Amino acid sequence: MIPYSCQHVDEDDIAAVVEALRGDFLTGGTTVEAFENALADYLHVKHVVALNSATSALHVAYRCIGLSEGDALITTPITFAATANAALMCGATPVFCDVKYDGNMNERKLESLITPQTKAIVPVDFGGNPVEIHAIKALCDAHGLFLIEDASHALGSQINGEKVGGVADMSIFSFHAIKPITTCGEGGAIATNDTALYEKAKKLRSHGIVKKALWNSDMEELGYNYRLSDVACAMGLSQLKKLESFIAKRAQIAAFYDEIFAGHPNVFPITPPLHVKSARHLYPVLLERSLWCAKEDIFKALHVKGIGVQVHYKPTYQFSHYKALFGEQRLPNTEDFYRAELSLPCHQGMDMEEAALVAKTFLELINDAQGCRL
Ligand SMILES: *Cc1c(COP(=O)(O)O)cnc(C)c1O
Repeated sequence: MIPYSCQHVDEDDIAAVVEALRGDFLTGGTTVEAFENALADYLHVKHVVALNSATSALHVAYRCIGLSEGDALITTPITFAATANAALMCGATPVFCDVKYDGNMNERKLESLITPQTKAIVPVDFGGNPVEIHAIKALCDAHGLFLIEDASHALGSQINGEKVGGVADMSIFSFHAIKPITTCGEGGAIATNDTALYEKAKKLRSHGIVKKALWNSDMEELGYNYRLSDVACAMGLSQLKKLESFIAKRAQIAAFYDEIFAGHPNVFPITPPLHVKSARHLYPVLLERSLWCAKEDIFKALHVKGIGVQVHYKPTYQFSHYKALFGEQRLPNTEDFYRAELSLPCHQGMDMEEAALVAKTFLELINDAQGCRL
């Protein structure tokens, strides 16, 4: 099976982990800070806090801005469940903003969703393609809202040569196995230029406890054990060195697909604009409307042929837990996007022959598919 995305672990990574295992500190040592500093340098931000997942990072970020019961935040339904779930963990209400054709939050629909309860806006860079972060930041500034960017797909993405992660109050990254880089399978980080938010995130990551003197410490507020180990950070340091080559490989595969699909009447790739560089966590394509009814068959046939396509994402408000809490919701472009989208395999572990096989097999199935009456 060629998966839609996949980790790439080489001998350097394994050696880094083995060395960390022989070290004095498996956790709570200096490798955590070394990884955080390397990430901060890479992203051109002041501070990075490493955590044990992006879900933990979202939860801590929302706690840092004081999100709590009675508050609302505005996010996108085209994301992994964790983006909104972390708001529920704080007792707050996620409000969903409709998306554009590219699966990113529609910044023009945001203002009408802002209420006195709104505390933050949380966009997601779908597939690695950056959102209109400067427009969203301006809106947040005008309304006194926090901006937290869920950049879990976008480590290494750029807008006009500037890395994603330095504009929002806090930016979230994931090091889950299939994300742009991994830290032994699970991991995450918060990047921020705000020193007060940074200090608070560090405290919440580790039980809300601060050292005072000698054995005396104080637990100042309720925190968590959301720490990332030195072993994981050693792997992160090793993976970060290869991130640019990973992105280059994914860009090569994406460009190859783009060329093959160009002008096709029934397959529309989501092509990032020229001033943008996408980390290409995903290679999403949209099917022409008349093929939406055939998506399930195309998906199944591709899996039978060993091509592990996936759909990103079932809109968060369609989950039964959300329906039970907030009732039925429907956002028109989100519904259409969910019906149209398929993510084709695109990752650094693939070679160009595999990419050619994916494109050929996919197009054969598309051309054979029976359209539906609209
Ligand atoms: C993967 C992902 C998360 C959660 O990441 P974990 O590190 O697995 O907790 C959150 N948001 C988005 C957009 C993701 O893709």
